[in-house]
Amino acid sequence: MANKLRKVLDKGEWEITIVDKHKTHYYQPGFLFIPFGIYGKHDVIKPKADFIPAGVKLEFAEVDRIDADGNKVLLEGGKVLAYDYLIVATGTRINPDETPGMKGPEWQKSIFDFYTLEGAIALRKFFRSWEGGRLVMNIAEMPFKCPVAPLEFVFLADAYFTEIGIRDKVDITYVTPLPGAFTKPKATKMLGELLEEKNIKVIPDFYLESINNEEKKIVSYDEQEIPFDVLTIVPVNMGSEMVERSGLGDDLNFIPTDKHTLRSEQHENIFVLGDASNIPTSKAGSVVHFAAEVVYENILSAIEGRPLQAEFDGHANCYIETGFGKGSLIDFNYETEPLAGTFPLPGIGPFGLLKNTKMNHYGKVLFRWIYWHILLKGHELPIENEMSMAGKKA
Ligand SMILES: Cc1cc2nc3c(=O)[nH]c(=O)nc-3n(C[C@H](O)[C@H](O)[C@H](O)COP(=O)(O)OP(=O)(O)OC[C@H]3O[C@@H](n4cnc5c(N)ncnc54)[C@H](O)[C@@H]3O)c2cc1C
Repeated sequence: MANKLRKVLDKGEWEITIVDKHKTHYYQPGFLFIPFGIYGKHDVIKPKADFIPAGVKLEFAEVDRIDADGNKVLLEGGKVLAYDYLIVATGTRINPDETPGMKGPEWQKSIFDFYTLEGAIALRKFFRSWEGGRLVMNIAEMPFKCPVAPLEFVFLADAYFTEIGIRDKVDITYVTPLPGAFTKPKATKMLGELLEEKNIKVIPDFYLESINNEEKKIVSYDEQEIPFDVLTIVPVNMGSEMVERSGLGDDLNFIPTDKHTLRSEQHENIFVLGDASNIPTSKAGSVVHFAAEVVYENILSAIEGRPLQAEFDGHANCYIETGFGKGSLIDFNYETEPLAGTFPLPGIGPFGLLKNTKMNHYGKVLFRWIYWHILLKGHELPIENEMSMAGKKA
């Protein structure tokens, strides 16, 4: 947003400040590959300052609170920043403390997350010497960011253990609170078949209540128990605690946001971008990219006193690694579920929607380069931010 807005807002009239508590930017989609030794730490981190254009102030500090009625951001340490417009993009984070037993004695011994760099690195160390047993992948609660990441994880685990020659000793089970592999029917069917083909068991409708560290099992609210030797988990996802302290969030600290204009439902001069909002689409980087176009248009309209005309359609576009050098792709929005076809060009592709192809895998691999060199710098991609029906078979 800073890269986009700095180009068009008069430097004499508009000051832009970014506040972030971390100096390092993480390419989070890369965390998925670390446990399998495909990426290392240095493939997924870069200094944030490298991406901030001249003429934008950068404050590395934790935001303690937003005083939305007073139009002020209060930083830890006492500094106060007044604003005319505010974009909140504080994302979502995992909260393992929400589930009894998750952070017990087995945490990072046989219970791991891969949604943090530390978790992904600890899991890499574990897998190096693991000789096999029951691998359980569990999602604690909805919503969570990148709903395809745990599926990709089990596909990559299947490929990894095959490649190192111990797949016959590894039993992989995917345990989800959803009624199937994914949220939308057509994608669920395709992904469910792929899981079956790869001999990955699916246990649906499992609502995690607690983790028993001594007996190494996960327990649901309706008292189902699933034993594990290693548990990989997506803990409860919540918005920033700062949102709670500011009184701006719902139960999970996500900010009520108009799903079309991306403006806060409570405050006219606050826009919400990315995982921090409660809009009903996937929490994914692709969504943030498409939504950024809408926030950009609407913030300029608000500044000029015009009605907010740009409308976000909930567009998400997710490459799904399926192992053995292949991948799948889904493209959808609020109204349209993932459909088969080609993307982005009708009949040409080169990517196949709801198909398992080598080209889709190359799309995912290429994405890291696109992310660092195009997306973060605020450059345009030759893809519309609104979902297109071209190439899709309804
Ligand atoms: C394992 C994994 C795989 C993924 N794979 C994909 C994928 O293949 N495709 C895809 O599109 N997406 C993927 N994602 C999701 C994607 O990374 C996120 O959706 C995206 O990063 C969200 O961007 P954001 O700007 O909303 O939040 P973030 O990128 O999380 O940024 C939030 C920022 O807010 C800062 N912050 C928070 N609270 C405060 C505070 N109080 N004070 C100051 N600063 C604060 C943080 O330091 C951080 O820099 C994946 C995520 C994970 C974890």
